[in-house]
Amino acid sequence: MHFGYSERCLEHDTGERHPENPDRLRAIRRGLAKRHGVEYVEADPATREEVVAVHDAEYVDELEAFVADGGGSWDPDTVASDGTWDAALASAGLSQWAARSALDGADGRDTPFALGRPPGHHAVPDDAMGFCFFNNAAVAAQTVLDDGAADRVAIFDWDVHHGNGTQDVFYERGDVFYASIHEEGLYPDTGALDETGRDEGEGTTVNLPLSAGAGDADYLYAIDEAVAPALERFDPDLVIVSAGFDAHRHDPISRMRVSSEGYALMTDQIRSVTDDIGAATAYVLEGGYGLDTLADGVSMVHETFDERTPVGNDDDPDEKTESLVAELRELLEL
Ligand SMILES: [Zn+2]
Repeated sequence: MHFGYSERCLEHDTGERHPENPDRLRAIRRGLAKRHGVEYVEADPATREEVVAVHDAEYVDELEAFVADGGGSWDPDTVASDGTWDAALASAGLSQWAARSALDGADGRDTPFALGRPPGHHAVPDDAMGFCFFNNAAVAAQTVLDDGAADRVAIFDWDVHHGNGTQDVFYERGDVFYASIHEEGLYPDTGALDETGRDEGEGTTVNLPLSAGAGDADYLYAIDEAVAPALERFDPDLVIVSAGFDAHRHDPISRMRVSSEGYALMTDQIRSVTDDIGAATAYVLEGGYGLDTLADGVSMVHETFDERTPVGNDDDPDEKTESLVAELRELLEL
């Protein structure tokens, strides 16, 4: 894969013992150093105008002033330092690079993966939250729509948390689809099954809040039976994968049980959907807080695009997953 990476993303300093820290990127790079076919690309940071296309100008000004003042705790979870403004613009810029280069034809071994931080999917139009300042995936989606490089963009979010920010940005939009599989009841406790979009966006939001303990078989089933058919029906030009790795069974902040191989299987599954519908694909890093499991997860996505065949999973999904998926299919008439 081609990995978007910027040293500026290390300058967002959340202090000691914060789970979202620069060691995450260092661990990913250490993991990738052992793999074949890894290329790094540095991209331009996003501009203020591009960020304001999805965030309120007032919030963006407030954040810039907060950071210029040295930063501190924006809220109990979300900490800024004097490097946060540049890191956040760099992180959004890497996502834009990923989306643009995918639409320019980068695929297969050249598939782009933006390794930015701070992450983005909790950032709502008028606020930072949940370690996120600018909604990187949303900025990228809006940028390629504004560029005219795409007419329809889908974002599939497999981070263990619901991407409330991404959902909020596009909830009433018919040109951007958002699907999330997340752990029910976890932060920020949004993403109920019946949140399916509004007005022009009716039916373009898909939420699968799986019960704690769900593993590979549940995720694969949910993608196969719900996310894939919804994506096929939406027929996007680009699929952005909001790729967090905190549903891993050894991640410290969730109770999900996805294995490292599970990330390879999900990657393979999404690739077969995008191949079928002829959509470009870009990956954007979200969460993932176990350093080894985060590095393994990213490496698994990379290796899957480097022609490693994932080891299949024959387990059955939990009955709770089956009934949730059946309810969603009925709701969305899939
Ligand atoms: Zn997360």
